[in-house]
Amino acid sequence: MTAPPPSVRDDLKNLHPYGAPQLDVPVRLNTNENPYPPSPRLRRAVADAVAQAAANLNRYPDRDAVELRKDLADYLGHGLTGGHVWAANGSNEVIQQLLQAFGGPCRQALGFEPSYSMHPLIARVTCTGWVAAAREPDFGLDPERAAGAVRQAAPALVLLTSPNNPTGTATPLAVIEAICDAAPGLVVVDEAYAEFAREGTPSALSLLRRYPRLVVTRTMSKAFAMAGARVGYLAAAPEMIEALLLVRLPYHLSSVTQAVARAALAWAAEPLATVAALRAERDALVSWLRARGLAAADSDANFVLFGKFGDRHGVWQRLLDRGVLVREVGPPGWLRVTVGTPEDMAAFRSALAQALAASI
Ligand SMILES: *Cc1c(COP(=O)(O)O)cnc(C)c1O
Repeated sequence: MTAPPPSVRDDLKNLHPYGAPQLDVPVRLNTNENPYPPSPRLRRAVADAVAQAAANLNRYPDRDAVELRKDLADYLGHGLTGGHVWAANGSNEVIQQLLQAFGGPCRQALGFEPSYSMHPLIARVTCTGWVAAAREPDFGLDPERAAGAVRQAAPALVLLTSPNNPTGTATPLAVIEAICDAAPGLVVVDEAYAEFAREGTPSALSLLRRYPRLVVTRTMSKAFAMAGARVGYLAAAPEMIEALLLVRLPYHLSSVTQAVARAALAWAAEPLATVAALRAERDALVSWLRARGLAAADSDANFVLFGKFGDRHGVWQRLLDRGVLVREVGPPGWLRVTVGTPEDMAAFRSALAQALAASI
């Protein structure tokens, strides 16, 4: 007799595991990683920090990651202290903890779509209702319409991604203020791509003092070039962080992770020096796409949404056939490409030119 299949929760039965294809191809431009690996100096600093942590691996880590949170607060500036900062295994875990503490059954979270598809998924697994509000046709937000949607739904949380994934759109502070004024609960601004924003794009961090229910999440996965280390964090009022202590698992952030993150922060200038090059490469890519008669959304991130294609899957496949992996995501007809090294982008441009010629 075979055992009956495991009976997963009814509300999860029709879901598929999240994830971009992890294919072994020469040019991987599908998960918005920083293409520049850590320098030899930074690698050595990380290795030394891990060796030190290894001497104490018989002990549990600092449950509250006090030193790391101080370092992250120093990095963020804006007068923040370790008490305003919380860290976890990637900003996805930070967002999950926010939904565990402030969402849950009988509560709702609202997002402006198209946006990051993990947000509704995390809402789902935490049994939080999801309200999808719409972005404008140019993927931006109108302050009055956005505030109206928030007022109407009165959600426990608003999740606002800025710069937005997959469109690259940054949200002006005036819009965030309008949303904060309308929201009865938390306003979470997911700033995973903040470091890539164009000059003069302010961060929601500057609003924290005025809005005690505002939360800004960040990650070391993108500009910091540490996606493999799994470190995300947030800044908020200290009372908010005390609520997160109720839901986090004890010792959730390993001593190895904490040591790696602190070493990377000590050398932050190195990975962040790649940001200027990536921004320039991004702006050149947008111009190149438009010069070819394609649409490209304005981007404040390290990726560009481009289109529109009658058969976007065909274009995606023809790029892959030429060794270039992009992401099939976003509104119908669009594709998203991560900004890589100059060599990556030359390969992308050449593959796309061929893919489009092949489709005529
Ligand atoms: C990549 C990304 C994250 C980062 O996730 P980590 O768990 O920190 O790697 C968060 N939010 C958005 C919108 C992203 O695109």
